[in-house]
Amino acid sequence: MRPPYLLLDIDGVLIPFPDTDGSTPATHTRHDVVPAGRSAANPVTVWLNPDHGRLLMDVIRTGLVTPVWCTSWRQDATTLIGPLLDLPALPYIDLPRPQITTSHPNGYLWKRDHVDAWLGDAPAVWIDDDFTTLDHTWAAERNVKGTATLLVQPAPHLGLQPEHLIEVTTWVSQLPTARAA
Ligand SMILES: [Mg+2]
Repeated sequence: MRPPYLLLDIDGVLIPFPDTDGSTPATHTRHDVVPAGRSAANPVTVWLNPDHGRLLMDVIRTGLVTPVWCTSWRQDATTLIGPLLDLPALPYIDLPRPQITTSHPNGYLWKRDHVDAWLGDAPAVWIDDDFTTLDHTWAAERNVKGTATLLVQPAPHLGLQPEHLIEVTTWVSQLPTARAA
């Protein structure tokens, strides 16, 4: 079995959503970035936790996962966000740009159909803050088919926590790929 993909979301995972009072976790540092196609005079402010780069690299260096960005930042994840966390240039899934007003237009995460096609029958651990019950059902059905799948869902106002990555490492370590490595 191939090492599972590690699909990484950004908004609500690496960039926490502000609380109702506009505050963000004290662990996070402010950056102004200019996504592709946007005017330099109109940057986007993001908040990132420098510890996340190190924690993610600890997982990536195990060689037990194949990391891929899976985010509406698309290529900007690779060129803008990753470098701010001292991450190497990771590949990204080139998600479509549907005209939607909710992240769950069909009751499940809008990315999922594209991810499902992209993955095929590849095993995957997917970190995203925005799964619904239907996404968890999708993951359970993949596991029933023998395609190892784990969804990890940080709280969007807190984002990624060290225990989420411990969960990832623990899960991948008990897969047949890890035992054969
Ligand atoms: Mg998100």
